[in-house]
Amino acid sequence: AGKTNIVVLGAGYAGLVSASKLAKEVGTDNANITLVSRHDYHYQTTWLHEPAAGTLHHDRTRIKISKILDLNKINFVQDEATKVVTEEKKVTLASGGELQYDYIIVGVGAISETFGIEGVYENSYHRWTVDGARQMKDRIEYMFARYHSDEAKEEDLTFVVAGAGFTGMEFIGELSERVPKLCKEYDVPRNKVKMYVIEAMPTALPGFDPELVEYAMNLLENRGVEFKLDSPIKAVTENSVELNTGESVKTSTVIWATGVRGNPLIEESGFENNRARVKVDDDLRAPGYEREFIIGDCSLIINTEIDRPFPPTAQIALQQGETAANNIKALIEGRPTEAFAADIKGTVASLGGKEAIGVVGSKKLYGRPAFFMKKVIENRALWILGGFGFLLRKGQNPF
Ligand code: NAD
Repeated sequence: AGKTNIVVLGAGYAGLVSASKLAKEVGTDNANITLVSRHDYHYQTTWLHEPAAGTLHHDRTRIKISKILDLNKINFVQDEATKVVTEEKKVTLASGGELQYDYIIVGVGAISETFGIEGVYENSYHRWTVDGARQMKDRIEYMFARYHSDEAKEEDLTFVVAGAGFTGMEFIGELSERVPKLCKEYDVPRNKVKMYVIEAMPTALPGFDPELVEYAMNLLENRGVEFKLDSPIKAVTENSVELNTGESVKTSTVIWATGVRGNPLIEESGFENNRARVKVDDDLRAPGYEREFIIGDCSLIINTEIDRPFPPTAQIALQQGETAANNIKALIEGRPTEAFAADIKGTVASLGGKEAIGVVGSKKLYGRPAFFMKKVIENRALWILGGFGFLLRKGQNPF
């Protein structure tokens, strides 16, 4: 028999782990393993709020795929997968090419959810990618830089974050920490700068531990952030956000963080989905499909303890990458597949500087211990992705 063709789509946390595990466990004697990704680098999605606010260079959040994976064993294709044609067991690529597969792992990640709200695409920064983060940072700096020019407008120094989820809170944490430095650098009086976080629900971080939410909000308010709660955004214009309450906030820069949906490829490929996420079977296959696995932010799995979906996180994506690779190996060898079991260690969110909040196991953390834990978690992800050398090159100092 010929070799088995295994195709992995996406070089995020989920795709990288599965490709590397497949290379190790199934091996190149038995299979052709192909990884498809739009960029020739992997980026740490969980760090993007830092380059977005300009507190970390974007190169620190990415690494060449050739430095993590052995490309003698894995065939890397830099391209954008556009559709999985399940009836023909092939993937079509943006360049016009296509790839045949015997097994496929889809790990193409999430995009911003805009809920179809008017003006979001045109007038806000909503792309949480390396390029999107770079644009956010440039925009913020430019608004400071033009303060002393004739074009300057009052609203240029009003920054609005849409959504007080983890993404919005982590971003405003970084920005609020940086604003005093930007004021100094660009000779801008501190009282000219306004920062708003606008949230639909009655609280920031809905569903998270209320005591820790209060800690975070107090900290951010002390840095000059203003929260508008119970205020769903209904439209974004070139120079304002319009709220359901009837209020309008003038601003030149809106950072969009109201949640995520799966990659459009999921809808394009005809998998049964909810906001482009597929409720996968226990072994991570798409329901009704034998050879198609879906993992990471495009998958949806239920936390049976609370009967609600697990949030899409890097932690789960890393774990799913392993299980999907194991299951393909099992299928090739004619063994039964294993069920995925999420092992949630906790949730920690950084708030800029050396501040953070989190719950790890049953422990609540805030301040320095939480910050320390956040760095440990990030370094652990690097370790899983690329081993010790990778950790040394890209790791973050927890102190
Ligand atoms: P989210 O869904 O967690 O939060 C989005 C927030 O936007 C919600 O509070 C929601 O009420 C609000 N919102 C929705 N529509 C709105 C509107 N029209 N106007 C104003 N507010 C509106 O999304 P996220 O923060 O992007 O996070 C995405 C996923 O990634 C989540 O599952 C999150 O848990 C995870 N994440 C985790 C971490 C971490 O663990 N440190 C960091 C970032 C993201």
